[in-house]
Amino acid sequence: MAKIFCVANQKGGVGKTTTTVNLSAGLAKIGQRVLMVDLDPQGNATMGSGVDKRQLKLSVYDVLLESASVAEARVRAEACGYDVLGANRELAGAEVELVQLERREKRLKAALTAADGDYDFVLIDCPPSLSMLTLNGLCAAHGVIVPMQCEYFALEGLTDLVNTIKQVHANLNRDLQIIGLLRVMFDPRITLQQQVSDQLKAHFADKVFNSVIPRNVRLAEAPSYGLPGVVFDPQAKGSQAFVEFAEEMVQRIKGM
Ligand code: ADP
Ligand code: MG
Repeated sequence: MAKIFCVANQKGGVGKTTTTVNLSAGLAKIGQRVLMVDLDPQGNATMGSGVDKRQLKLSVYDVLLESASVAEARVRAEACGYDVLGANRELAGAEVELVQLERREKRLKAALTAADGDYDFVLIDCPPSLSMLTLNGLCAAHGVIVPMQCEYFALEGLTDLVNTIKQVHANLNRDLQIIGLLRVMFDPRITLQQQVSDQLKAHFADKVFNSVIPRNVRLAEAPSYGLPGVVFDPQAKGSQAFVEFAEEMVQRIKGM
């Protein structure tokens, strides 16, 4: 059975897409079968996996509208070692179209269930909003991975996300839980980041992943080559941190 995780945070630019593609590549590297689902109409995770969003014949949009199965719409990101259910701007329209349909928030879940045996992990890159698309991700998932920068307002934004996850858990998906908070773009030389990191551990205890992703320019450069940092420059500090995180995730799911 595949374990399905959303990478979510309603803030933009916090490292969701970087986390999704690099965790996918890290898991693939240690022998896991991975499907990466792009739920953001910007299609950054698709492009960042070397799949041209403008050339997609079928995408997650078709899957949500039930005009294609996951098996039909997925493509192989050869260099990255995982499958991609891609997204492009067409997906922005799904938001409106889904509202009128039945089981509108459970569409992705139904589609992924049909592909369950093909994967060990399914990772879903969510858009920076708590929209119908994100809701489809949350309904399909066993858990949420929350990337966050250790900055002053980080904890404030977390309250909204935690409340949304509680509501989805109560009303739509009893499986859903926060798997963990991932500290990203971390710079230990900045005292404030250390302080926020300590606060996170005090509040959320073992919900804070042990792995920490450093700020690392190689991770930021990799998308322009259509590759996750883990593949683009495996030796980079950031890449090594993501492989370590992949190993931590494999350990975490053993108890699930
Ligand atoms: P989101 O998907 O939440 O909007 P992204 O993953 O696109 O966030 O990251 C926002 C920006 O920060 C991107 O330009 C990305 O390359 C950069 N970035 C993300 N993580 C790191 C990191 N650990 N070190 C350096 N730059 C990073
Ligand atoms: Mg993104």
